Amino acid sequence: MQKKNKREFTLIKVIIICLILILLSGVGVMAVTTKVNTVKIEMSNGYELTVLTPKTNVKEILEDNNIILENNEKVIPGLEEEIAENKTITITDKSNQEIEVAKVSESGIEMTLDTLLDAYSTIVEKIEVIEEAIPFETITKDVSNGSSSTKNKVLQQGVEGKKRVTYKVKYQNDEEIERTQISEEVIQEPVDKIIQVSSKVTSSRSSTTTRSASSSSQTSSSTSSSSTVKVYKVTAYCSCSKCCGSHANGYTASGTRATAGRTVAAPSNLAFGTQLNINGKTYVVEDRGGAITGNRIDIYVSSHSEALAWGVKYLPVQIEN
Ligand SMILES: [Zn+2]
Repeated sequence: MQKKNKREFTLIKVIIICLILILLSGVGVMAVTTKVNTVKIEMSNGYELTVLTPKTNVKEILEDNNIILENNEKVIPGLEEEIAENKTITITDKSNQEIEVAKVSESGIEMTLDTLLDAYSTIVEKIEVIEEAIPFETITKDVSNGSSSTKNKVLQQGVEGKKRVTYKVKYQNDEEIERTQISEEVIQEPVDKIIQVSSKVTSSRSSTTTRSASSSSQTSSSTSSSSTVKVYKVTAYCSCSKCCGSHANGYTASGTRATAGRTVAAPSNLAFGTQLNINGKTYVVEDRGGAITGNRIDIYVSSHSEALAWGVKYLPVQIEN
């Protein structure tokens, strides 16, 4: 028994020695063939470490240097990644790392942390359904045959239509940043206002021909009619700097003193001095405005609160001269 044990023991010794030899030669071979890389490790606290390592696996490199990741830390590249020479392993807070990723996704554009955080502050998307008015058209039928004395008769009262508009609105920090119209549904079609302009003296003979005259005038109305009454987008303004900017001096573009109840700003196709009848009141074109083009009219009022209270109205405007 003892003999046998001794023999086994020497056998184990031989095997161990052999293994050590194999291992040593292996290490020797490895030392020759394995390249030692310089790897920089950036810690989340800003500390940097440069290590010489034969390892290329990120996890192994960190383990070799007794670096243990905290729960809130991430490593770039990932733990299972292989790393080439002269590369950097970066350990960051998870929140920082998200910003790193964001930076990359901004296609290389350098951003400050503030603008970045701004861009990533929560954007709330809301669907808003708003009922909006559809302004009615005013059609003038001139059956006066060029008579100097005419009278206007409203054949049909205009009625505003109604539509339901659905918007997708994006808010950031409670501020609207984007509004996209998704759909529009007409609930009620507007009804045209029809005004007939006829000669004041109506004989019995002309009244019998009114029907034919009005029907024939429909073709001509499209050319001559809307020159006298037209629907304008009517807003109000005062002499404050919010309304008039650098021109806030109380004087109009025509040189008159702006006067509530008289002064209106109109596009340049309406000459200064032109009288406009809006809602039964007569105003005079005395002013201009950068935004007052096309179908816009701005009525001068004496205070900014009045201007705000007016809002935006679509009104038939009669051009009187
Ligand atoms: Zn104002």
